[in-house]
Amino acid sequence: MATLIKGGTVVTASDTFVADVWIDKGKVSALVAPGTQLGHADQTIDATGQYVIPGGIDCHTHMSLPFGGTTASDDFDTGTVAAAHGGTTTIVDFAIQSKGSSMRAGLDAWFAKSEGKAAIDYGFHMIMTEANPGTLAEMAAMVREGITSFKMFMAYPGVFLVDDQQIFRAMQRAGELGALITMHAEIGLPIDVMVQKALAEGKTAPIYHALTRPEVAEATGTERAIALAEMAGVPVYMVHLSAQRALERVAEARDRGLATFAETCPQYLFLSEDDLRGDPPGVGDGEWKGAGYVCTPPLRPKHHHDHLWRGLRNYDLQVVATDHCPFCMKDQKELGRGDFSKIPNGMPGVETRLHLLWEGVRAGQISLNRFVEITSTAPAKIFGMYGKKGTLAVGADADVVVWDPKREKVLGKDTLHMRVDYSPYEGRKVIGTPSHVLSRGDLIIKDDVWVGKQKQGRGQFCKRGTFGL
Ligand SMILES: [Zn+2]
Repeated sequence: MATLIKGGTVVTASDTFVADVWIDKGKVSALVAPGTQLGHADQTIDATGQYVIPGGIDCHTHMSLPFGGTTASDDFDTGTVAAAHGGTTTIVDFAIQSKGSSMRAGLDAWFAKSEGKAAIDYGFHMIMTEANPGTLAEMAAMVREGITSFKMFMAYPGVFLVDDQQIFRAMQRAGELGALITMHAEIGLPIDVMVQKALAEGKTAPIYHALTRPEVAEATGTERAIALAEMAGVPVYMVHLSAQRALERVAEARDRGLATFAETCPQYLFLSEDDLRGDPPGVGDGEWKGAGYVCTPPLRPKHHHDHLWRGLRNYDLQVVATDHCPFCMKDQKELGRGDFSKIPNGMPGVETRLHLLWEGVRAGQISLNRFVEITSTAPAKIFGMYGKKGTLAVGADADVVVWDPKREKVLGKDTLHMRVDYSPYEGRKVIGTPSHVLSRGDLIIKDDVWVGKQKQGRGQFCKRGTFGL
């Protein structure tokens, strides 16, 4: 079935031009001057006055993630549908190797979570909780299956934390295989001591989550991860970079010519430590409201926003992903009432990423092309999907968003589709929203309504290539 998106302004990471976009058999088949007749279109979408952009790629999500005795509230069904409503057509989620178990078992568990459920295309990174002879040997098979990136943690002792020697061994192996190591670069051992001290002093409110995970812990972890990658002679990618000093470490490494990459997330650009403080005592739910803003790394003081926006403009930051990991206030965040360390870490975000970043375009923080680059093209390139995903070109998957720059939306739990009982952006008005979303040529969202014929299970596993920048 041929689809014509006519009269829109096509925006890629490099170009902006008015064109008709023809789609056939799930792929972009032609980009031509408006009005050029190429035969019969079975479906025509009028994009006059709108932008036509490649579908968003969110390379950091946690659907159905088990954490702290509960499970992230979105699964591959609800989470991918919500993503599509927000203009994201591909996610890369994190499969987890459990300590003492194989990566194979972890990957199979995540395939089981996603198969028959995902509504848009998806890939996996593999979280390595041990780099031992067994898991190091398994990396080759993972790469062959299209799992070409591995995440390691310097934080969460006893759960995810791996020591420098294990990180270094995994980096060396990744280098041999053309795989990429991604790092959660907060140093967790001293953080845990700070957490215990705060709790012993009766400091139990959500804000102490931020005060016990200071910026220096992330900056130092970032510097150490870069050093390990430099010694191993491999690229490295920092997930969810949140703060100025960590960004300076990345910038300094890039200035020295190292293949150091970093993503930030909308919450670090739009929210701050103030949100974690909740309401003043006696107002609303008081300081407990801050529990909805507990994520890791924590939200930082507002002055970091300017540094992160500058990093996005000057290419020190390459990607904006979400770290989507929602937990409901009721029953889930509640687990940490009276002990901030038991509040499940994470926020909803997979649906609101493009809306929020468009505010950055409107404010002149980033260009239209840079918007496309950080939300789609760069993650496609870094994570081995480019060509198939991440741009609008002949032969690429027809993952396309028609973006209406004039339409308003008020963000809130009742206007969004993520399965969670609050929104960190409740009541925020944004201007600019998808009017149409296509996934491999199928029109799946029109005017914020799911119109795709199939929903659960229509998403396909995206086998990713090796690191090729
Ligand atoms: Zn994460």
